[in-house]
Amino acid sequence: MRKNIVAGNWKMNKTLQEGLALATELDEALKGTTPNCDVVIGTPFIHLASVAAAIDTTKIGVAAQNCADKESGAYTGEISAAMVKSTGAAYVILGHSERREYYHETSEILNSKVALALANGLTPIYCCGEALDIRNANTQNAFVQTQLEETVFNLSTEDFKKIVIAYEPIWAIGTGVTASTEQAQEMLAFIRSIIAAKFGKDVADSTSILYGGSCNAKNAPELFAQPDIDGGLIGGASLKVADFKAIIDAF
Ligand code: PEP
Repeated sequence: MRKNIVAGNWKMNKTLQEGLALATELDEALKGTTPNCDVVIGTPFIHLASVAAAIDTTKIGVAAQNCADKESGAYTGEISAAMVKSTGAAYVILGHSERREYYHETSEILNSKVALALANGLTPIYCCGEALDIRNANTQNAFVQTQLEETVFNLSTEDFKKIVIAYEPIWAIGTGVTASTEQAQEMLAFIRSIIAAKFGKDVADSTSILYGGSCNAKNAPELFAQPDIDGGLIGGASLKVADFKAIIDAF
């Protein structure tokens, strides 16, 4: 059966010292507990090694928020998937809407990133989701389907089984406007149906699909109770241990 996952995305927040304090506080908070979900924290690159060394990574997986689309070499300022892996991180968030929008990440670029992440033993948390104009035009299903068809649906079945999908409607990210439980469930069921059509029902049933977009301690219990919502990708609410822990406890 598929895993439930609560994954934090710290984005460009927290100095190294602040990030280490946040990670160790979460580690302490989870000591002696057995969450009903896998827990992941997506830190800035420079935090990865220190955070992975400071916490119990069998309990809290560490994620990068990006990796390069090139293997290695003369790409000043870039961080490769192999480098991410060498820090002790196990996951990488790819295709976040902020990266697609502000850093012009195309499907072609994302295909390279996903391939390199998988080749280096990282689990991609692959994001998809539509902007408000697309939702208002009621064409969100076709839009998300195209995002997936152009990228992760090109993977072999064996590789597709290694990824996690996160549906994040852009209009709900950091806005305080959460998709309604019905909207989130409907989209995640749709995503699962197209995974089934492409890779078969068994693969669809074992793929973890997360919802992201202003998920918080209050709305998480209802969202996570939906049959197709296997957890959340959490931005703002992952920056405070009490808030993030409450979301973990929603399972
Ligand atoms: C995100 O950026 O992945 C996200 C879901 O952010 P927030 O929870 O702040 O909306």
